[in-house]
Amino acid sequence: MKISVDCAIFRDHTAAKGVQLELLSSFLNSYDNLLKLSSCIAYPPLINPHDHLIGNWFPRAGDSDLYPNAHIWVDDMKESQSVKERDMIWKNSLPMNFFNGKGKLLACLGGYKNIFSGVSIVQDHAPIQVEDYYKMFPINVIRNYRQCHSLELNNFWGGEEPQQEMELTEGKLPFIIHLGEGLDEKTANEFNKLKEMDLLQPNTMIIHGIALTEKEIQECAEVGASICWCPFSNHFLIGKTLNVEACMKHNVNLVLGTDSTLSGSVNLLEELRFARSIDPQISAQDLYRMVTGNAAKALFLPDECGYLDSEATDTVLIMEKRHDDPYINLLASQPQDIVLFVHEGKPLYGERELLNHFDIVAEDYYFYTKTGRDFFVLGHPENIMRIIADILGYEKKLPYLPFQEN
Ligand SMILES: [Zn+2]
Repeated sequence: MKISVDCAIFRDHTAAKGVQLELLSSFLNSYDNLLKLSSCIAYPPLINPHDHLIGNWFPRAGDSDLYPNAHIWVDDMKESQSVKERDMIWKNSLPMNFFNGKGKLLACLGGYKNIFSGVSIVQDHAPIQVEDYYKMFPINVIRNYRQCHSLELNNFWGGEEPQQEMELTEGKLPFIIHLGEGLDEKTANEFNKLKEMDLLQPNTMIIHGIALTEKEIQECAEVGASICWCPFSNHFLIGKTLNVEACMKHNVNLVLGTDSTLSGSVNLLEELRFARSIDPQISAQDLYRMVTGNAAKALFLPDECGYLDSEATDTVLIMEKRHDDPYINLLASQPQDIVLFVHEGKPLYGERELLNHFDIVAEDYYFYTKTGRDFFVLGHPENIMRIIADILGYEKKLPYLPFQEN
């Protein structure tokens, strides 16, 4: 099927006007159709390089005061009303195994947070789970990574010693670690400790890095390591965020992630907006790179991820055009601006009438109406929310589920 759009962003970041895409999908009921979406812009789906899928509960956890470091919050969070409520559905045990019981349902909700914001690839920071865990998502929850929670808490949640985790990457997978998430002296020393442990490598992805000095950021850039910026979570927990200007100046591979909704933003579109609001110096195009090509590089993803390479594609995110500049347009977008989101040929989310072009099983989809428009989404998040309501005894609202009335 051909889809004509007003504009598409290809690999070289040129915004091509009047593009006719060819959607490659075995689910199409005709290859000859021409779908005119002339008031829309086509993007590669986004990449969320930092989330904790089972942690996407709401409201955010912890008291309203700021913390000197996030390790204190990790303890506080467990006693918060929000996490206690979530624990009624499913409680973590150590080592963490999310495939157990209703952990699957919580993780799937985290998957929906990402789907409803146009994310097709997400890094779920956690100890590596059983293979079937990664297979249950309709998007790519990446399986190939190694990690450590943090140098302070080590791999309390599961996984090997950090050096062994790094060794297991063989330099070909990302090594992911929370680092410098605070303002106290202990946190300030974490970067030196990372180097002493020989864990600052080209495949290291530092999450947060609030405590990093400009010199340390420069060292990250020289080594070729990546830094993941989570500004909303940083402001909520610590009251300060990464020195992004230094990251840009030294050309470090900078990416943007949400973290979970227990501390972070509602979804990646909100995170983009928040990043822009606190740092208007950063261009919309730079922010776009952080959730596409830069993120693909940090996560050692195949070359095609994070880019539209040609008019023919099986993976695309088509958004309503509300602004002439496609990068600013993305920053202005809401979940209901996603017209069609197709991942590896499969329609995941979008306007209901567009599903008529696909030969699919209607029962596999949930249909709902939002602001007078009809949408489809793959799977049944409404059933997950029904199970949760049965357990809690009341209906639970989550701000990233656009089908709920808020
Ligand atoms: Zn995190």
